[in-house]
Amino acid sequence: MPVLRRLLNSLAVGTVDIVDLTSPLHERTPVIKLPPPFANTQPFSLKVVSRYDERGPAWYWNDIAMGEHVGTHFDAPIHWITGRDGLDVAGIPLRHLVAPAIVIDKSAECAGNPDFLLEIEHIEEWQRQHGPLPEGGWLLYRTGWDSRSDDPDRFLNLDEQGRSHTPGVSVECARWLADKAPIVGIGVETVGTDAGLAGGFDPPFPVHYFLLGAGKYGLTQLTNLARLPATGAVIVVAPLPIVGGSGSPARVFALVERA
Ligand code: MN
Repeated sequence: MPVLRRLLNSLAVGTVDIVDLTSPLHERTPVIKLPPPFANTQPFSLKVVSRYDERGPAWYWNDIAMGEHVGTHFDAPIHWITGRDGLDVAGIPLRHLVAPAIVIDKSAECAGNPDFLLEIEHIEEWQRQHGPLPEGGWLLYRTGWDSRSDDPDRFLNLDEQGRSHTPGVSVECARWLADKAPIVGIGVETVGTDAGLAGGFDPPFPVHYFLLGAGKYGLTQLTNLARLPATGAVIVVAPLPIVGGSGSPARVFALVERA
C-alpha cells in the first residue's frame, strides 16, 4: 500500500496518533522579559474588526498583534548575530520542518532545580540507552516546564532581582549540539531555548549563539512532550513564512505510533 494511504489508515484506526505540542495563544501567553536597557517584544493581542454587527453583519474576524517570538515559536538562524548571514524564517527548507524527533526527559531533575542545565554527559547517557541522535532531526528537551504555562509568573520564575530561573543547556553542551550533533534544532518547553540565567553565561545565551550560528534552529514553549516516546516520533513544525523574519509563532505537532 502507498505510504501516505497507510498513514491515513493508521490515523483513522488510531495506530498513529497526532499530539499537539503547541501552547494556545492568548493575551496571557507568557513572553520573555529582557532587563533594561534592552527592548522588549509585544505580547499577543486580539482586536475585533467585526462580529456579526454593523461593522460586518454576517462575519466575525480579528486583527492580531504579537512579536515573532511569542508563544510556541520558531527561531531562525538570522535571529542571532552569529547567524546573521543565515536563513530567515521564510527560507527554512521544509524537509527540516517534517523530521524525526527524540525526547530527553529531565523533568525530575528540573523539579528539584529550576536552574538545571543539560550537559553533554546527559546526552551520552541517553544515547547509550536509545541510540544516536537522529540525522536531520530535532532534540526535544523535556523539563516539565509546560505545567507552568498557564501562569506567566511561575513560567518566567523571576527572583527579587528580576533574574529568571528556568532550565536550559550548558555552554559546552550547546557548542556540542551545534558542532557535533547531527540534529537540525532543539525544542524546549520554556520561554526561550536558553536557560533563564544564560544572559550571564560566556558566551551569553549559548544555545542561540552556537546553534543559530551553525545554521540550526530553536523551538520554544512546547507542551505535551510527556506524550511522546523517547524515539520514533515525527515532528511537524509550521512557522509562518515571514519574509526577512527572525522567527515566527508556529503550530507544532507530532505523529506517534501506538502499539
Ligand atoms: Mn525566540
